[in-house]
Amino acid sequence: MLSSVEIRQKFLDFFVSKGHQIVPSAPIVVKNDPTLLFTNAGMNQFKDYFLGNKTPQSARVADTQKCLRVSGKHNDLEEVGVDTYHHTMFEMLGNWSFGDYFKKEAIEWSWELLTNVFKIPVDRIYVSVFEGDATEGLPKDEEAFEEWKKWIAEDRILLGKKKDNFWEMGDTGPCGPCTEIHVDCRNDEERAAVDGKSLVNNDHPQVIEIWNNVFMQFNRLKDGRLEPLPAKHVDTGMGFERLVRVLQNKQSNYDTDVFSGTIGAIAKITGNTYDGSDSKQAVAFRVLADHIRAIAFSIADGQLPSNTGAGYVIRRILRRAVRYAYSYLDYKQPILFQLMPVLAAQFEHVFPELSKQVEFVSKVVKEEEESFLRTLDKGLKRIDDIIKSASGQIEGKAAFELFDTYGFPIDLTRLIASENKLTIDEQGFEKEMEQQKGRSRAATAIDTEDWIILHDDAAVKFVGYDDLNVTTKVIRYRKV
Ligand code: ATP
Ligand code: MG
Ligand code: MG
Ligand code: MG
Repeated sequence: MLSSVEIRQKFLDFFVSKGHQIVPSAPIVVKNDPTLLFTNAGMNQFKDYFLGNKTPQSARVADTQKCLRVSGKHNDLEEVGVDTYHHTMFEMLGNWSFGDYFKKEAIEWSWELLTNVFKIPVDRIYVSVFEGDATEGLPKDEEAFEEWKKWIAEDRILLGKKKDNFWEMGDTGPCGPCTEIHVDCRNDEERAAVDGKSLVNNDHPQVIEIWNNVFMQFNRLKDGRLEPLPAKHVDTGMGFERLVRVLQNKQSNYDTDVFSGTIGAIAKITGNTYDGSDSKQAVAFRVLADHIRAIAFSIADGQLPSNTGAGYVIRRILRRAVRYAYSYLDYKQPILFQLMPVLAAQFEHVFPELSKQVEFVSKVVKEEEESFLRTLDKGLKRIDDIIKSASGQIEGKAAFELFDTYGFPIDLTRLIASENKLTIDEQGFEKEMEQQKGRSRAATAIDTEDWIILHDDAAVKFVGYDDLNVTTKVIRYRKV
């Protein structure tokens, strides 16, 4: 069986053999882009090449990109840990052609890599092609269809709608059809009983999308019309953890060697066993093993937990993880920072930025955990009372109290509410927030977005928190 390290390397080597230059992952944290807080796809760092604003060094590149999908257009947070194949942070393997090769080579190489190099059985693969959309004047992707016919039985080529098979960067700009590759990991009996075709793109945990090949060939104009792009591009993204799971013959991404180190560490620290089930305890294992990666790589790339913007996204993820450990693994002390050395060692040769700063990152995480744990117990007792007296809904005022006094991010309150079959009065909560903003705007103007870039030998030293209260906490660093 190939290890995840070998699988990643084989992907990169394959594209080197096809003339690609390997480039490093861009940071997971995006700076200076008002539309994006975190990198959510491999193509983000190449945006300017597609727009023609910059010329790439090489017309063919490949990489593994650290991605985070917890905010904005792509938000998978609620799926994470509940299912077995959506992560907050994941690696997206990708290959690109900037005005060089197009559909023929992209499809041929996807096929060659998956079936020849990785030996995925042909009868487990389905592909999807854009069927066209008359209302938008978008044609069916006949070319992709014809290319696939060279490799795969026609009844395994599915036609898909715009939602899954057409990619646009925004309201205007480069766009085009995409073709996706899905793998049916069910056992023989299940496959004989139900046709896999009907399960593609249907949230089936064993029939999963692994790779998307986007063909950028149009430019969407302001008036909505499409014109052909002078140069056509290929942009692909394959979920690394999903690929590993397919190749290691597992039922879940969490059963692969990408996660076994941290899952093992969580078991050892908490004295629980991971059984891969749907129990709250198993979900907690998955949530922790997942969230630690998002937290670690974001901090290592310079995004510290804070009260606003990208920093608050990290704080929310961290608090969500802490609460899972507390409630479902019965572990009431800081746990995440203890996992850091395991993760750092695992990624030492892929993303060395973590191992180089492991002490610093661990310290930040431990402080964050301790700070939340100071109010978590009381907050959980309070939410219990609130739930007992609630009829169908948690009031905005109550959700705000949990936020303001106990540091419960709204999505944590929402999660606990939904575990108890309740919803939140979101509008009421927003109203309370607005009122508080008004109050604090008048009171003080502290910039909590403490944004620093940490390089290998980070020239800053963590000196502690300004502990104002749970929700307005400023992390201080000193230049050294
Ligand atoms: P899905 O339909 O499963 O949510 P997607 O269509 O949103 O995936 P794309 O935007 O096409 O995903 O991204 C390319 C690839 O990245 C996917 O084919 C998948 O393998 C992987 N991927 C996407 N989202 C996640 C995630 N949250 N965790 C792990 N891998 C992911
Ligand atoms: Mg998705
Ligand atoms: Mg999809
Ligand atoms: Mg997709």
